[in-house]
Amino acid sequence: MNEPLIIIGSGMAGLGLARQIRAHDSHRAITVITADSGDEYAKPLLSTGFAKHLPPDRLATRSALEVADQQGVVMRTHTRVTAIDPASRQLQLGVETSGFGELVLATGALPRLPFSVTDELSGRVFSINDLDDYRAFHAALSALGRPARVAIIGAGLVGCEFANDMVAGGHGITLIAPEEAPLPRLLPDPLGYALGEALAEQGVHLRLGRGVAALQAEGSGIAITLNDGHGLSADLVLVATGLGPRTDLAEAAGLETDESGIQTDRYLRTSAPAIYALGDGACVDGVNAMYVQPLQASVKALAATLTGTPTRVAYGPWPVLVKTPALPVVSLPPTHEPARWRIEGEGHDLTALAEAEDGRLIGFALTGACVRRKVELARSAPALLG
Ligand code: FAD
Repeated sequence: MNEPLIIIGSGMAGLGLARQIRAHDSHRAITVITADSGDEYAKPLLSTGFAKHLPPDRLATRSALEVADQQGVVMRTHTRVTAIDPASRQLQLGVETSGFGELVLATGALPRLPFSVTDELSGRVFSINDLDDYRAFHAALSALGRPARVAIIGAGLVGCEFANDMVAGGHGITLIAPEEAPLPRLLPDPLGYALGEALAEQGVHLRLGRGVAALQAEGSGIAITLNDGHGLSADLVLVATGLGPRTDLAEAAGLETDESGIQTDRYLRTSAPAIYALGDGACVDGVNAMYVQPLQASVKALAATLTGTPTRVAYGPWPVLVKTPALPVVSLPPTHEPARWRIEGEGHDLTALAEAEDGRLIGFALTGACVRRKVELARSAPALLG
């Protein structure tokens, strides 16, 4: 009997792959196994929902049942794969065993929390990395019945987007991070400061250059002590201190992994036969980009490979667009440490060019009106995975 193709994960990578395979092959038996609800949604919209007061169900475009029906796939929702045996091509789902013909790991990334959350603080401290997380946070906000005081810890892409979105939604936002300027991994400091000023002009309270020393329950809210000795109170805390690829399942199965993800070649093949990986959990030929455009390129290449046309994936010079309407930001982080950043522009409209020793452009960052230069600059920048 032919065993099915099993995809673990129903994020943009897992469901995108199922859809793309169906475009090539209407008969192949496909099973999607997912630890969450399996509802289809666009994750980037999670950090734009609060300004528009969007209830969680409005973010789901299709239920798991509709996906199963329309795509002709078996959806196993709220089901966690607990082990993989690559030699016998079997999965363990708790006590149940399930065979696979080919397996795709689309297991994504999970929030890296800098501290553990005690039982006393659960229900007040959140991170949002999927629709179920959004549902839980949305419920906690709604339960207050008034605008919330929210402390966001972390000023990377997710922290800044939520800060902008939630302040626009009428909440009182404090943004806390150890770096002096927002978006430290995407922007050189002068552009980060411009974003910080723009967020402050919208009403975000910035507490940058300091970390969190302690969190304590205080009435129905939280008392936050910063490591400079100052303190503040909040109703809720949103932790946005970064994501790490989910590699535990692959690692336990003996697949090659490291902190950058499940290692694959350009065909998305892991170190085990018939097992592939893509999306936030996968490090493809040394690159784990963790955003949508590379994921979509991987979906297309792997769908072609799995339907009989082996296809190498390539990523172009695709910049990241940060959804901070207070100050639009575009960034293509340099491929390696630049010899210099050349910064041009005035006020909040800035262009930063990362140059190699020989003057070659190896990355760029743009803010405000300068974001319109993204297409022109991307033409001269190196591909992410050429
Ligand atoms: P995920 O969506 O994390 O899916 C992983 C799946 O694996 C889940 O279904 C999970 O349940 C399942 N799973 C994991 N382990 C198991 C197991 N053992 N058994 C069964 N199931 C399992 N990118 C952009 O390009 N532009 C943006 O504007 C942008 N905005 C973003 C905003 C936010 C708030 C966040 C968090 C990310 C954003 N990104 C953005 C990044 C982008 O959304 C991700 O790169 C992409 O959604 C990752 O999809 P994925 O399918 O790889 O992972």
